[in-house]
Amino acid sequence: MPRPGELTLVPARRGKPPRHLADLDVDARRQAVAELGEQPFRADQLSRHYFARHVNDPAQMTDVPAAVRDTLAATMLPTLTTAVRHLETDGGTTRKTLWRLFDGALVESVLMRYTGDRPRVTLCVSSQAGCGMNCPFCATGQQGLTRNMSAAEIVEQVVAAERMLAAGEIAGGTGRVTNVVFMGMGEPLANYKAVVTAVRRMTDPAPSGLGIGRRGVTVSTVGLVPAIDKLAAAHLGVRLALSLHAPDDELRDELVPVNTRWKVGEALDAARAYFEKTGRRVSIEYALIREINDHAWRGDLLGKLLNERGRGWVHVNPIPLNPTPGSKWTASRPEDEAAFVAALEERGVPVTIRDTRGSDIDGACGQLATVGD
Ligand code: SAH
Repeated sequence: MPRPGELTLVPARRGKPPRHLADLDVDARRQAVAELGEQPFRADQLSRHYFARHVNDPAQMTDVPAAVRDTLAATMLPTLTTAVRHLETDGGTTRKTLWRLFDGALVESVLMRYTGDRPRVTLCVSSQAGCGMNCPFCATGQQGLTRNMSAAEIVEQVVAAERMLAAGEIAGGTGRVTNVVFMGMGEPLANYKAVVTAVRRMTDPAPSGLGIGRRGVTVSTVGLVPAIDKLAAAHLGVRLALSLHAPDDELRDELVPVNTRWKVGEALDAARAYFEKTGRRVSIEYALIREINDHAWRGDLLGKLLNERGRGWVHVNPIPLNPTPGSKWTASRPEDEAAFVAALEERGVPVTIRDTRGSDIDGACGQLATVGD
């Protein structure tokens, strides 16, 4: 367990996951296949199987000669993730899956189908095994960082979700992943390169990638300012969410220890610049913790800081605190939550309270942890 306030920005060195088609762009895939002594167009066939059909079983690749199928699949599409178990709730529309990676590291992803006026299927993915950011109210943060995930390990979570949906395993019929949120385990911007590659694979049209709409992808960060700037310049078209949790440095230093490096003002400036460069409205995540950060004056101060940076560029997503093992903190009282929201609305800031979906299977925000499994 990390000591209070301790940050791990770079993981200890560990073995790398096997290389996979999803780590490579189209040219590199062709080159890799050529290095195996095969025709480069075989790479395009593999891409169609994996990214368009979500197939990695060589037996189903009938357009590839039987003699080379197994070799190609073993070297280009190695098994990266194995499902350890699934937990379901909300009548089978929410499913949390625990995955074992090649070296035994464990991560989780959560698939959620929403019906109603904005039907969608959202997958919450992990980008690191564990997390080095050490936020005291987050179960993953308390577990510490094991290692970065590769781009393909991240993408595999989406492909697996597509398979579950196609097989009708998620209540509500068959379907496709429409949204991906980097709100599972890990700090995505501390694993910048793999995350950007994974986003490209998710959003490139098939067969180069999975063809998920760019606006459907959200990267959530504690506020690694240089990486936010880099992400804005990368023109990926994805949405940004900033985990703020406090509008004042004194409290945020405690709740989000990376605040000792990049202060509230710097994180908000970077978020505003992200909006300016990309035109994408930023969300501010704010876990409401009873008598810790849920005071109306903090809602008011947050509204003031956001408005100082302009109007119409941001909305606030309060998240009722989800319980985590060993934490003394609990969710805000309804009246305090309402007063906090009202303070923001009085300043004209749009607010949407996030649901606590999956909390009964420890699948909600901040509850993903693989210690003790
Ligand atoms: N590391 C990234 C992404 C993962 S967390 C980040 O921090 O943004 C996704 C969101 O859940 C973050 O806003 C995080 O602060 C929030 N969260 C963590 N623990 C929580 C808890 N116990 N209750 C509610 N939200 C929590």
